[in-house]
Amino acid sequence: MKLDAIQAAEAKLLLQTYERNPILFVRGEGVHLIDENGDRYLDLLSGIGVNALGYGHPAIVETIAEQSKKLIHTSNLFFHEGQAELALRLTEASGMDRAFFSNSGTEANEAALKLARAYAGMRRSEGKRLGTKFLALEHSFHGRTMGAVAATHKEKYREPFAPVMPNVEFVRFNDVADLKTKFSTDVCAILIEVVQGEGGINPVSQEFFEAARKLTQSTGALLIADEIQAGLGRTGKWFAYQHYGIQPDITTLAKPIAGGLPLGVMLCTEEVAQAIHPGMHGTTFGGGPLACAVGIAVFDTIEKERLLDHINEIGSYFQQKLNELKQKHNAITAVRGLGLMLAAELDSAELAKTVLAEMQKRHILINRTSETVLRFLPPFVLGKQHVDEAIAALDEIFTEHSPAPAGEHAHTNGGTHIG
Ligand SMILES: *Cc1c(COP(=O)(O)O)cnc(C)c1O
Repeated sequence: MKLDAIQAAEAKLLLQTYERNPILFVRGEGVHLIDENGDRYLDLLSGIGVNALGYGHPAIVETIAEQSKKLIHTSNLFFHEGQAELALRLTEASGMDRAFFSNSGTEANEAALKLARAYAGMRRSEGKRLGTKFLALEHSFHGRTMGAVAATHKEKYREPFAPVMPNVEFVRFNDVADLKTKFSTDVCAILIEVVQGEGGINPVSQEFFEAARKLTQSTGALLIADEIQAGLGRTGKWFAYQHYGIQPDITTLAKPIAGGLPLGVMLCTEEVAQAIHPGMHGTTFGGGPLACAVGIAVFDTIEKERLLDHINEIGSYFQQKLNELKQKHNAITAVRGLGLMLAAELDSAELAKTVLAEMQKRHILINRTSETVLRFLPPFVLGKQHVDEAIAALDEIFTEHSPAPAGEHAHTNGGTHIG
């Protein structure tokens, strides 16, 4: 079998960074992935929120075919047709003024961190009191490079590589008092995932987000919204911060923008952009002609197919169905999320593992994060019938593996019912 040979080769040849599921996918169609044996899987994860238009969408396939015949790479030493055109769409959708294109999420965040430091330096040279410290939130995930990982809360991601970027302090999630205590003129920026992804699909509270906006405005520090997972429509608006009516100074995007090709972007205000001059920052690959052409196609497809409306509709339906499951099964302790960025929290990590494995057996792909959280990041083109299919499977699995019915014992379930 092909998978066995690949597994053996990877075990010998690759740096062992991933614990892969033993499935070999060879193609995809719509919301389905197809493995080497021709078995179809309903994909509710979309490559960790990347394949927003699903698989084989003609807008993406045709754009790649056409653009790859014309030009794939030029470097940033020359102009090409795509960057300004994509930047126009992204700045209009975000309310920002300028864009810097990268290849990945973590690089978009590096650009944001560097810009925040440069901006603080510029303000200091004008006599302003503004330090170099970053505040990030507990349970945050901002990436794996030395700067972004320094702002990532989980110790196991940072500790083995110490010293990572110094001068980051973590604030308790949604704890306004803790934020106020830790904020001072030493701080150059606060980093917030508007909806925490890896951390378990936790939306920041209105009160906390507002407090962060007010504090940063009071000193001239910056508010950075990491929308790498939540942005470009996943929550039902182009940017998750638009649900709150709060405009950050910088925002970062990556996962869904180029339909599976690597592309990230940092967007910022005109004022903040003044801190960067030619030569201070850059990238060889970032914002290449192929990735940008596909980015434009993805953006235009979301508009043309009215996918934001669809995400709101199908997302509410999905969330409502998860809530009905929660009523029925005690093991589900919470249902959270916005649009098609959803989670069901369970009362045990073991059960979450079991549910994942059972879903996989039924050929439905979901993800587990923060030990006990089932995460759903389906393609934007998900249909009602796919939600029904997933909910029926979950219902069956919970009935089989956590028999205690909700009702008389609601909220007192000890989570010891694992077969
Ligand atoms: C995935 C993710 C990143 C890192 O993106 P990479 O492309 O893996 O470098 C950063 N922030 C958030 C919120 C993410 O979900």
